[in-house]
Amino acid sequence: MRALIVSDIHSNLDALDAVIADAGRNGGFDAVWSLGDMVGYGPEPSACLRRLREFSLTAVAGNHDYAAAGVINAADFNGAAYAAIQWTAKQLDAGEIRFLAGLPQVAQQPPFTLVHGSLRDPITEYLLHPGQAAATLELLTTPYCLVGHSHQPFICRENGHPTSSRQAAVPRFYAFPEGERVPLDSVRCIINPGSVGQPRDRDPRASYAIFDNNGPAIEHYRVEYDIQATQSKMRRAALPQYLIERLDYGA
Ligand code: ZN
Repeated sequence: MRALIVSDIHSNLDALDAVIADAGRNGGFDAVWSLGDMVGYGPEPSACLRRLREFSLTAVAGNHDYAAAGVINAADFNGAAYAAIQWTAKQLDAGEIRFLAGLPQVAQQPPFTLVHGSLRDPITEYLLHPGQAAATLELLTTPYCLVGHSHQPFICRENGHPTSSRQAAVPRFYAFPEGERVPLDSVRCIINPGSVGQPRDRDPRASYAIFDNNGPAIEHYRVEYDIQATQSKMRRAALPQYLIERLDYGA
């Protein structure tokens, strides 16, 4: 079984289609696992939901999914994100709103737990530091955890290296190497596949992962997509200029 792992697609259909095609070339997949923020920011929310639902899909909610569906209040979003959410909500039909509102905050696909932010705060925590990773590992009941939200690809391993014999080992963050197969072993870990539709690690290419239970192993890939086509659609939708420009820089 191979699962395509996507996160933070953010209504970017050009990026999503590039990822699906590239994953097909990289050995294919049997299911899609989405770690939240399928919508928000980008120009094609409904088309992205339709595309994802063509596959055997397991999806958890992100803050933008819940905000677009009115489950959470978008008032504390920044100006551009708020404007995009208002626009997004108007594009979605009643069935799409129900689908987003009904997304679970946490899902399990053994050996993984899927969540957007973190296990102690599934919708809003950006898991980026060892203390945050330790808190999620404490709540984790499967060997591995998949997160999104920060748009930063990484692997965080539980064992780390204690600085002294009296100190507990702290989780350590590692780069998620592109194009490599990372074996999953007995060390528990938290993995972020990066963002499909709005990368923020200074690499504008769409980012995704594939889990292969024959190993088991996880692979990280980047793929170029037609950024200008997405930007034209965003201009036509009058989405905020800042959101259009940041796709060029992956920031
Ligand atoms: Zn996001």
